[in-house]
Amino acid sequence: MSTPTVETRQFATETKQILEMFAKWLYRDKEIFLKELISNASDANDKLKTLALENEQLFGDDPDLKVWVMFDKAKKTVTVRDNGIGMNYDEVVSHLGTIARSGTKQFLEQMTAANADAGKGNLIGQFGVGFYSAFVVADRVEVRTRRADAASADGVVWVSNGHDNYEIVKSDIAQRGTEIIMYMKDDAAEFLEEWRLRKVITTYSDHIAFPIVMFVEKEIEADTENQDAENKDAEPKKEIVEEVVNQAKALWTMSKKDIADEQYQAFYKHISHDFNKPLTWVHNRVEGKYDYTSLLFIPSEAPFDLWHRDHKRGLKLYVQRVFIMDDAEQLLPTYMRFVKGIVDSNDLPLNVSREVLQSSEATEHIKASCVKRILGVLEHMAANDKEKYQSFWNTFGAVMKEGPGEDFANKDRVSKLLRFASTSGDGANQDRSLEDYVAGMQEKQDKIYYLVAENYQAAKSSPHLELFKKRGIEVLLLTERVDEWLVSRLTNFDGKDLISVTRGDVDLGDLGLSDEDKAEYEENKQAFEDVLKRVEEALDGQVKTVRVTERLTDSPACVVADEDDMSTNLKRMLKDAGQAVPDSKPILELNPKHPLVERLKSESSDEHFSVICQVLLGQAVLAEGGALDNPAEFVQKVNKLLLS
Ligand code: ADP
Ligand code: MG
Repeated sequence: MSTPTVETRQFATETKQILEMFAKWLYRDKEIFLKELISNASDANDKLKTLALENEQLFGDDPDLKVWVMFDKAKKTVTVRDNGIGMNYDEVVSHLGTIARSGTKQFLEQMTAANADAGKGNLIGQFGVGFYSAFVVADRVEVRTRRADAASADGVVWVSNGHDNYEIVKSDIAQRGTEIIMYMKDDAAEFLEEWRLRKVITTYSDHIAFPIVMFVEKEIEADTENQDAENKDAEPKKEIVEEVVNQAKALWTMSKKDIADEQYQAFYKHISHDFNKPLTWVHNRVEGKYDYTSLLFIPSEAPFDLWHRDHKRGLKLYVQRVFIMDDAEQLLPTYMRFVKGIVDSNDLPLNVSREVLQSSEATEHIKASCVKRILGVLEHMAANDKEKYQSFWNTFGAVMKEGPGEDFANKDRVSKLLRFASTSGDGANQDRSLEDYVAGMQEKQDKIYYLVAENYQAAKSSPHLELFKKRGIEVLLLTERVDEWLVSRLTNFDGKDLISVTRGDVDLGDLGLSDEDKAEYEENKQAFEDVLKRVEEALDGQVKTVRVTERLTDSPACVVADEDDMSTNLKRMLKDAGQAVPDSKPILELNPKHPLVERLKSESSDEHFSVICQVLLGQAVLAEGGALDNPAEFVQKVNKLLLS
């Protein structure tokens, strides 16, 4: 047989960048390399267990899945081994040469020295670059691996010093699974001690469901009966034994009262790859028509890719303690995509596929109950720990706002959990609930008013609020992208309609204008009838109509959308997103009490009249945060007016 050829291959560009960063790692948290490699070993064992459901032969004569952590002081190596699925040649090339997940750029951006020093080294797992962290502590890494379903001749050895390239060669490997041998750097010699490795394992990997085994030296118990006098003073005999150093139990199968907060937190960090502690969690065992256990976590910080299209969401699914799949998104609605956790079902078949999961009654049931648990936890938090709830809302509120549109069954409960900035709230803080709003409504008020704008500044100073401010009526200020969608789905709360203050007529119902005001308004309408016509002509093609306003007290003009037209804010959003926008024109409202508008009445020069109209329209658009089609022309007109 000819010797297999050793190939030298280049790392992918983004891998090189990651490796370069790890090689120069100067920060604390060097120890995370072990957590990452154990996590990979545990994944590999899980995968074999899942495959073996269909083909038990895969276990061979080695059915006890484990993870070994070994060290050799003389050779200065630390080794992590598993007897899991292993990798074939092509898999080694693609998994240990490139980076599968997107987000390398964000990773490098986030792994600034400051972040790394602040202990954010554990971001590593989140970005799918865990394996490469071996190069934080080692200047040479050797991987020996063989797939469980391949012949021993199809083993693969991969070696690299973590610079530009690696060597790869086929090799006879008797043992299935993967062995990672790290040749430690001098400044990582601390990991060549049993107690040090043990400490890292119990800190990060206690909950790994497989035994993590170390070889330790133990004294052999002296056998007193056979002890003869000669041997009495001899050194006690020692032998090397395997010792399991972790709990090695699936955490969720344990009773709640036996699980410490720290264990829950470590488990969360393991499944979420999040370095931060979770905000809260809920753990339940359910027996009845369906039997399952759920352990759900609400993170305290958002993952970097929460808003990416390919954001991984959903829960880890186990069936009868066997790992089935990651990211089972069928178990949670989209608006709860921030929730992490596991479900272990006794009802689903062991070979359940995503398709089967999609249409299974058990899935529906589990999903509905997970949603109820999360809503319950959030309601409890909102009622009992406002500060904590506010921090949740600030992080995930924008996601929760998708709820009323997506989850009809729980619309009421979700609506009560919403928080908004408002004219009665604390600045831009989103801290007013709809219940707060209703409780603060004026006696005859029967509607909930809101304004959607591009940002808080624009919302707060919008001329559309003038009348509401004057009357002391609260208006919710909505400034997030999702808000347009929210108000299109949530049109009523507690029997009160939600009404935009920038659309249609101002409808204050019984709170409306006093008889006196009404009379004045009618008078103005008549007095301005001719002017309005003239303005309409001057702005021909730019506005739908021009009318006298009820809503302004200080500003001369504002634009509003017609009752059935798309709001200007939504149009702007769609336009920014490159989408076609219906060509609806705004209504221009003029404040007859404003001197500039007043001047229109007596303006005899058509040219001058037109300039004033253009300026009024332009500033109305600007005031609500809009953009002008032709800013230069607007400035010219303003200057003309200043000089007149
Ligand atoms: P992630 O675990 O997030 O996918 P890693 O960089 O830790 O990212 O690992 C990359 C890939 O390499 C894994 O997805 C897996 O396919 C493969 N891999 C790593 N370690 C092992 C192992 N011990 N056994 C089998 N495959 C492994
Ligand atoms: Mg990993």
